[in-house]
Amino acid sequence: MTGTRAVIGVDVGGTTTAAGLVGADGGVLAHLQAATHGRGPGGALATLLDLIERLATLAKGRGIEPRAIGIGVPATVDAETGTIGADAHYVPELAHVPLGATVNRRMGLPAFVDNDVNALALGEWMFGAGRGAASLVLLALGTGVGGGIILEGRLVRGRGGYGGELGHVPIDFDGRPCICGGRGCLKTYVSGTDIALEGSRRLGRMATAPEVFRLAAAGDAVAEALVAEVCEALGAGLAVIVNGLNPERLLLAGGVAESLRPLEALIRAACAGHAFAGACATTALEIISLDKGSAVRGGAALAHYETRRREGATV
Ligand SMILES: [Zn+2]
Repeated sequence: MTGTRAVIGVDVGGTTTAAGLVGADGGVLAHLQAATHGRGPGGALATLLDLIERLATLAKGRGIEPRAIGIGVPATVDAETGTIGADAHYVPELAHVPLGATVNRRMGLPAFVDNDVNALALGEWMFGAGRGAASLVLLALGTGVGGGIILEGRLVRGRGGYGGELGHVPIDFDGRPCICGGRGCLKTYVSGTDIALEGSRRLGRMATAPEVFRLAAAGDAVAEALVAEVCEALGAGLAVIVNGLNPERLLLAGGVAESLRPLEALIRAACAGHAFAGACATTALEIISLDKGSAVRGGAALAHYETRRREGATV
């Protein structure tokens, strides 16, 4: 029975928080969402707890008892304790919150918390485009840029929870300043926010990232030049991953990745210009499409992964 091993997966975003009841096969049995700050600034925790409670009630009504809860948050996280780090730019009220313990106390279920892209990578590895891979890197190109690294079947979190922060690898040591305090980070060239900012500056009017891509496809010289730079920067960033980790699969996801789909050949060429040919040949690069259930499936995968990992560690 699918329902007997169901878990609750949650994705906290800067705009929307989603919660799903997810079956053992990754199927989303029920899905709820709400505006993260619908209760006003500082309301992310109340929104999240309310969604989880509503979903648990809904599950009970169907005779399903979720076994655990997994939560992805756009921040660095101490996954051992489920405590959010200081770098929670999109949900500042969650910084330093012991979210795992709070949800565990409220719901009486094991609750695990991790960075949202780490959760997404686990979701694709367990249920999606990364199934069966021994090693996988997922690069999420959206409003920001995040990464999730799985090597030899283990999620790489790093000592302080910064493992996978691939959006902040410097690709130009003299480049644009970044929100992280660094300079020339990959994010400052390829995130939706930065493409829109740079596009608006060069075009002399407000433009969104999808608009920049549309203009480039239609032959606008200014947009074309900017998109060519995006591809070149991304190629350099991908080369860091391909040369540094040489994973079996390298998945690109998110809104900007979707916009880049027609330019895939260009991106591959840019990456090949910086990476070892042998490394490129053995890492399978793929642009994947996320659906409405992908994010909550990530939270669910985190719940499964942590349950297994901790059982294994105590045996
Ligand atoms: Zn940065």
